[in-house]
Amino acid sequence: MGGAITSAGAGAAAQMILELLPEPVILVRGRDGEAPEIAYGNQAAREVFRVELAGAPLGVALRRPEVLEAIEEALSTSTGVEVAFETIGVQPRYWRAFARPLEPVDGQRQLVVVLRDETDARRTERMRADFLANASHELRTPLASLAGFVETLRTHAKDDAQAREKFLGIMAQQATRMARLVDDLLSLSRIELNEHIAPSGKVDLARTVQDVADAIRPLTEERKVSIATRAGPGVGSVTGDRDQLVQVIQNLVDNAVKYTPPGGRVEVALEAASSLEAARAPSRQGVGLSLLSPDAADGQGYVVLRVIDQGPGIARQHLPRLSERFYRVEGQKSGGTGLGLAIVKHVVNRHRGGLMVESAEGEGATFSVYLPLAAAG
Ligand code: ADP
Repeated sequence: MGGAITSAGAGAAAQMILELLPEPVILVRGRDGEAPEIAYGNQAAREVFRVELAGAPLGVALRRPEVLEAIEEALSTSTGVEVAFETIGVQPRYWRAFARPLEPVDGQRQLVVVLRDETDARRTERMRADFLANASHELRTPLASLAGFVETLRTHAKDDAQAREKFLGIMAQQATRMARLVDDLLSLSRIELNEHIAPSGKVDLARTVQDVADAIRPLTEERKVSIATRAGPGVGSVTGDRDQLVQVIQNLVDNAVKYTPPGGRVEVALEAASSLEAARAPSRQGVGLSLLSPDAADGQGYVVLRVIDQGPGIARQHLPRLSERFYRVEGQKSGGTGLGLAIVKHVVNRHRGGLMVESAEGEGATFSVYLPLAAAG
């Protein structure tokens, strides 16, 4: 046979291909002056509409009047048409229908209608637009404040040395804040770009924790918060990208120090866990929530990094949203960018690890990150 397709075989093959297409396809027929009917619907169409399609009036499948009208019009004039519409239900979906005329059969006009589900594309588009709007808004606030002070310095405060000093201080703060925001945004986009490529380096977490703790010392001394680090038995190296893991530890420790009152203590602990279940086990009382969890891998051990603070804690309703970009618990003036935990989550995801938060109001917070142990040797 050599793979040749006879013309009878071609018809059957075409039918099979139609059936297998992931997009719903229907064939519409109608005589002038009569309501159009569906002559055929492929498997995807039958799954979407969940009705017997062959022989059914077109309105059974496509209920929206504007869609029906457009298709009826295309059928009666034998022209093509493209129309977007929404279906409502538990989950609203966005569709685009492409109708193209075929040769008439037995005096009946024919139209093939292909439906494309644009829901995911719309959702991604909306997320992108929301993100841009949020990022612009976050930048605009310090920018407006800077512009305001420039104006004041040029006019009212022109000859007031004391006010000038004060305003310049605030301006420097706002500029730093904008720079941090831009750095975090760039960082996040760089991490996302290679999130699908797992890191291959080996990182000694105990050392890395110590390095971060040493680097943050000037800040902790200024805030009178102490940092205690400890590593349990069996804590080995993890598979990772050291620079990115430094960012994770830094962001978590920065938050812990920021929210712990003067005189308080932040603890950074490393523990070995022999399985995913062990890594995910609760470490304290209070509400715990997993913000990210990897796929289970047989026999994979983990190193769990816990950052434990004595701050005000986080109320239960905020926990699920903590790692969203720009999310901040209302009423808390963090002075941060709201991107710290989003960065943590994306780095840990790239490392095929997990992230968990445990907290109770008034009883501090514990953020735990677990990362796959590197193979020995
Ligand atoms: P930010 O730069 O605002 O700190 P993050 O993404 O790091 O952004 O944190 C998001 C929000 O989560 C913070 O604004 C704060 O409201 C809350 N949060 C994070 N860590 C803690 C913590 N250790 N204790 C209490 N609240 C926290």
